[in-house]
Amino acid sequence: MLFADLHVHIGQSLDGKYVKITGAKTLTLPNILKVARNVKGLSLIGVIDSHSTGVQEDFKTLLTTGDLRLLSAGGYAAHGLTLIPGHEIELQVGEGNAHFLAYFPSIEQVQKYVKALKPTIRNWQLSTQKGFLPFDLWLEAVRKAEGIWFPAHVFTPHKGIYGNCCSRLSDVLAVAPKAIEIGLSADRGMAESIGELETCVMFSNSDAHSLSNIAREYNTFEQVDPSFGGLLNLIEHKNKQAVRNYGLPPKIGKYHRSYCLSCEQIIKAAAPQLTCLDCGSKHVVMGVLDRLVSIADRPMGIYNDSTYVHQVPLRQLPGIGPKMYERLLKEFGTEMAVLHHVPAEALQRVAGEKVAVWIIKDRRGELNVEAGGGGVFGRVVDLLT
Ligand SMILES: [Zn+2]
Ligand SMILES: [Zn+2]
Repeated sequence: MLFADLHVHIGQSLDGKYVKITGAKTLTLPNILKVARNVKGLSLIGVIDSHSTGVQEDFKTLLTTGDLRLLSAGGYAAHGLTLIPGHEIELQVGEGNAHFLAYFPSIEQVQKYVKALKPTIRNWQLSTQKGFLPFDLWLEAVRKAEGIWFPAHVFTPHKGIYGNCCSRLSDVLAVAPKAIEIGLSADRGMAESIGELETCVMFSNSDAHSLSNIAREYNTFEQVDPSFGGLLNLIEHKNKQAVRNYGLPPKIGKYHRSYCLSCEQIIKAAAPQLTCLDCGSKHVVMGVLDRLVSIADRPMGIYNDSTYVHQVPLRQLPGIGPKMYERLLKEFGTEMAVLHHVPAEALQRVAGEKVAVWIIKDRRGELNVEAGGGGVFGRVVDLLT
């Protein structure tokens, strides 16, 4: 079983230049590899700022030092972790703009792709820039560089394709995606309320802009080769059953519910709410749930099996401050070990009974949370008795 997070940004390249302006300075390629492997316990990551001029230099450096090694099936081995180079681009589809993710077998193929798109993007150092070209031409560039693609965080009001551009992908995309990224404020049960997504592979990724946020959402892959080829097979054959998602409970997402910009509060009445019931304002940031309820063509929440586990990162659990977190990692190695493998008795011995109960609840997806919205995260509200 692999632990995979396919959407990790880079804050800066090693030459000190910004890649993601809102990203942390410490979010460099070598630090990402270290934290993903040694702290988080991931087996496969997608670094989606591999197009960046500075980051390409960083790849070359790590290849020279032997910290990266090209795999025959594509992707790079990084001392037990697999790294897949990728790119996030903003494209206009229909009336709006949406983010798309693409992944490539090697940095050479990324360069080929960058060369083909060169004139359509203004700044190649920076993350998630707008591409001034039609979707079809972008797709052609991805294919020619042997890449794979899917739309990013599809339901978010901020540049998600359903949140921003359409109510059906088939209305705006000439080619149907074989996979989607669900995004932080939704889960599979919500996504499955749109019939056209029934056969799509669904990923839940962190979209991390800092080291600590790596793997705040992730996936497990069953019987998938840890390489670009493995990911390609998974997507091309729509092997949906191979993927299990571990994601924040949708309510904790910062765009889960609609948010009134005039009263600055989350609208709590049953979804969908597109105007504020208190002040009547239409200046509302549409919540992911509100958007989905208004475009769904199937009942929501019917698909509710164990393939989507609602889980919050260890550091967000009550009772796990910096000291307790350190103690857990020192004893058990990685977050994935604590969240998946360590027996309850061992957790109890190291962290005490209360914290152990929280971790086990989190492992099983049994936490209760209060809803977020308008850019503010929800929070865990369980009270242990
Ligand atoms: Zn994005
Ligand atoms: Zn992103």
